[in-house]
Amino acid sequence: MAAQSWLFRGGIDRERMLDMDRHLQPVRRDSFGVLALALCACGPWLGWWTLFPLVLAGLVFTLADSRMAKAKRPEYVMFAAWSGSQAIIAASIALTGGPLAPTIAWFAIPVVTLSARFSPRGIAAGVTMTLGLILTVAFATDAAAVIKDPPLVIAPIGLVIAVAMLSTALMRSDVEHRNEAVIDPLTGMLNRKALETRTQELTQQSQLSGEPIGIIVGDIDRFKQINDSRGHAVGDTVLTDVAYLLRKRLRAFDLAYRLGGEEFLVLLPGADLQQTAALAEHLRGDVSAGTFAGQRLTMSFGVASSRRGDAFDYRAVFAVADAALYEAKRSGRDRVCGAAPLAAAAIVA
Ligand code: GH3
Ligand code: MG
Ligand code: MG
Repeated sequence: MAAQSWLFRGGIDRERMLDMDRHLQPVRRDSFGVLALALCACGPWLGWWTLFPLVLAGLVFTLADSRMAKAKRPEYVMFAAWSGSQAIIAASIALTGGPLAPTIAWFAIPVVTLSARFSPRGIAAGVTMTLGLILTVAFATDAAAVIKDPPLVIAPIGLVIAVAMLSTALMRSDVEHRNEAVIDPLTGMLNRKALETRTQELTQQSQLSGEPIGIIVGDIDRFKQINDSRGHAVGDTVLTDVAYLLRKRLRAFDLAYRLGGEEFLVLLPGADLQQTAALAEHLRGDVSAGTFAGQRLTMSFGVASSRRGDAFDYRAVFAVADAALYEAKRSGRDRVCGAAPLAAAAIVA
């Protein structure tokens, strides 16, 4: 997947948008229903045809949903659908009285969703476009009315800006709270809580796909000595640098966690024992070749993987990887040890 784009800083923003959109979809359908009811009730005065643009906007989003799944940069698909819906609102307002149309405030509805989907740049682009549409529609359809009664455009413009500001602040605090709960503040890695949620998802996925899932557990060798000789602050920098190096090696869909202290865990969807061990060996080599806060160090690793065709049992696979890590420490450190977990049948026997 392409990492950077004009609307996003990187892959995490993209994942957040796709996740938000999954949550928004049912609510979006319901809100379209509410607007349809309102337009039906207004039918005798505004005309029944006003339902047509609403249906069109619904179709635009439905099309975008199906395209997003396959797109390299789904944010552009979503932004195009979002802009399309604002253009449809603009056209129907132009046809129902321009600045005098009672639905002119509806421009603010899609603005609520901007902050859930895009970076500040995307939000600014969406708001600017909306304000441009309000002014264009108002002046192009009934400039005389706007000049005589400027609040006709000032009020909707104020509404759009206020809605964008409030929804952005709400979204930011929601993201911060979620980050606090699942991100380790020192290394920026995911924490144990995030691991729990992810392992449950992977178990469900593996029941359907039968794909193996690899686990690497890594622990820095003799880390206590670094703390003792160079101080806790240097120890912290070493942890941050090691975490950065581990993440740099991983594929986008592999996930790295800090279990606590100087112990890390990597989940590798689709990796069998051999692939898991090969990656751990790369990580071990990278660590032993690097310097961290001017400090050379080594790391020991335990690896395990669920068997192809078996459902992923996190506890069982982790127990094997953890025992293998213990074995790596016992047999001299700076090495990778591993084993496949016993099949369920073998444990029962
Ligand atoms: P081994 O090779 O057997 O793993 O030895 P070790 O010294 O790495 O292991 P041990 O478990 O004895 O020591 C781990 C140390 O990590 C002890 C603890 O003070 C330190 N530690 C745990 N969390 C942090 C942290 O957030 N920052 C720093 N600087 N040190 C930490
Ligand atoms: Mg250690
Ligand atoms: Mg340890």
